[in-house]
Amino acid sequence: MENALHTRDRVGVQDYVLLEDFRNEKAFVENLRKRFKENHIYTYIGSVLVSVNPYRDLGIYRKEFIEQYRNVNFFELPPHIFAIADTAYRLMHEECRDQCILISGESGAGKTEASKKILHYLAAASYHAKQVEHVKEKLLNSNPVLEAFGNAKTNRNDNSSRFGKYMDIEFNFLGAPLGGHILNYLLEKSRVAHQNNGERNFHIFYQLVMGADDSTLQRLLLRRDPEFYYYLNQGNSTRVNGIDDAAQFQIVKSALSVIDFTEEEINALFAVVASVLHLGNVGFTEDDGRAVIAQEKSVYSVCKLLGCPEDMLNDALTHRTIEVCGDSVVSPLNRDQAIRARDAIAKAVYERQFKWLVQKLNASLENKDDAGKKTLMGLLDIYGFEIFKNNSFEQFCINYCNEKLQQLFIELTLKSEQEEYRKEGIEWEPVEYFNNKIICDLIEEQHKGIISILDEECLRPGDATDMTFLDKLETVVGSHQHFLSHKIADKRTKKTLCRNEFRLRHYAGDVTYRVEGFLEKNNDLLYRDLKKTMTKTSNLITRTSFPESELLSKKRPDTAATQFKRSLSQLMLILMSKEPWYVRCIKPNDRKQSAVFDDMIVLHQVKYLGLMENLRVRRAGFAYRRPYEVFLKRYKCLCPKTWPSYQGSAKEGVQVLVNHLGYIPDAYRMGKTKLFIRLPQTLFEIEDSFQNK
Ligand code: ATP
Ligand code: MG
Repeated sequence: MENALHTRDRVGVQDYVLLEDFRNEKAFVENLRKRFKENHIYTYIGSVLVSVNPYRDLGIYRKEFIEQYRNVNFFELPPHIFAIADTAYRLMHEECRDQCILISGESGAGKTEASKKILHYLAAASYHAKQVEHVKEKLLNSNPVLEAFGNAKTNRNDNSSRFGKYMDIEFNFLGAPLGGHILNYLLEKSRVAHQNNGERNFHIFYQLVMGADDSTLQRLLLRRDPEFYYYLNQGNSTRVNGIDDAAQFQIVKSALSVIDFTEEEINALFAVVASVLHLGNVGFTEDDGRAVIAQEKSVYSVCKLLGCPEDMLNDALTHRTIEVCGDSVVSPLNRDQAIRARDAIAKAVYERQFKWLVQKLNASLENKDDAGKKTLMGLLDIYGFEIFKNNSFEQFCINYCNEKLQQLFIELTLKSEQEEYRKEGIEWEPVEYFNNKIICDLIEEQHKGIISILDEECLRPGDATDMTFLDKLETVVGSHQHFLSHKIADKRTKKTLCRNEFRLRHYAGDVTYRVEGFLEKNNDLLYRDLKKTMTKTSNLITRTSFPESELLSKKRPDTAATQFKRSLSQLMLILMSKEPWYVRCIKPNDRKQSAVFDDMIVLHQVKYLGLMENLRVRRAGFAYRRPYEVFLKRYKCLCPKTWPSYQGSAKEGVQVLVNHLGYIPDAYRMGKTKLFIRLPQTLFEIEDSFQNK
């Protein structure tokens, strides 16, 4: 006993449900720190897994670990990502219930690594058969491809995912994977044209330049010199310690062929990547207020690679056609406008290529065998809450997404917890928790929400600007308790806000957004001439992703925020129909260092991940519950009166059993269909006697 206590003192508790001082944030962080120091990066809050990024290889994902966690009851082994993957997989397979694993946390906290570990586990531990090995290969190989095109080095993470990803894996009744489907969210396309100091563009650009063989480079009219390209050199970090772009290129190439890309498609893909680099090098001078192309060679390269008339692209980069009363009027662009137009087309080409890529991946992962019952395992790896010094439209969207996920968490976990008590007729002391629905409404409500107001300003002809958008916000949502701006703030708060900012009181904390660029980013307009040029290209990717029909359509495309809102609400429906598992990732410090645990940085994340709230609710009630039939079936051998069978109802049988086991009244409750056990310890004990039997 003394020994056990001593160990606990040293390594902390592995399930927060067992933490004595469970309301104390400091004690919470302290427990994580103790465990981290002992290389225990995983801790549970009931069935939620908290993971602290070790920033080094701990050797805990080897084959032995996969074997160890396979088919073992959740609480029997130390917390591990494999335990989550295994339990979710078994529930899906044995009880035919769709599952999803939601991974959250801030940039660099280890979400993508966690999702890869889960995928890896599922591939290794699921049903083996020759026919499904290829499916598994494809699922695993989709990752390096998506990461090459969607990840980049940022100041927070050398391999930061710049898009949100949800993946469904489909299994048959044997538990064998049949295929998968990927949904992608909001690629940070501004990175194509601009990178902050210390950051890079998407990996694929450097991989291609550094890793392609000489003849490929020649064909793509590229130099083996990332510094030469404006879209690559702005961050002053074309080369990064620990990233081998050339080696990575080979991995991406072989992954592309595993997922059924043809030679022609691979060539088209690299031609698009190269053409974006050439576009970036198209410079402009100005003559009498008109933009003049300074780098004709770059324009030539783009046209050669994409297959479009050179004069058409030349014109489209320097002019703009406007329809006035049925007539076309061509007006020249000045230098600034031309640069913007160039960047806009580069971003659009890259973004559409990314969508095309995901579609291709989906076609390759599609399960073509339609027979039989299917179950799904979903994996969500999406950007965490962001608070930067300057927050713009992108942070607004990302934080909105996090509000929605928090809402889902509340809906699915906290509420369903209470619902179950009610349904089972067990007395529940209501736990107070903050419901962030009010913030979701503030952002997304029809007509009255921030997105609607933004769209209105974007569609309003005439003098709409970012500042008129802010004015309108003040008029419509100014009195909302989660909204603040300079004009309506009290004296003290006024000092902390500029005139061009608004502040949202998010569930995770206050974020101040600067309105500059909101309208333009939300409108996301591309000059028609450039679009038209792209429809004339012969490259199979640009040709399919810029269809002629788009030019003919009179309907204005949905704004960026509205599209995002729609895809988020679809995601919510998908997640809502599944049983959720949560992995909450935390980074121990801001310096990407192993063995450094910064209490303040961790505390901040504990707060905005809502972990204290989560624990409070979990502790408020009975941590474990089992249907009577299941409980009786498993443990009936522990009591002579229930073994080998009990004549009465399962509920009566369980009552006899718990009496025999000597549970004190406070340790359990008998619900309508389930037995509720207050602390996991009780369950461990009977598991022990069961094992010893
Ligand atoms: P972003 O939001 O920027 O995409 P993320 O949460 O996906 O961030 P990851 O890319 O998963 O973060 O992790 C960042 C880095 O931390 C990894 O490249 C890896 O070096 C390290 N890391 C993360 N998880 C682990 C782990 N379980 N074991 C060892 N190293 C890890
Ligand atoms: Mg990531």
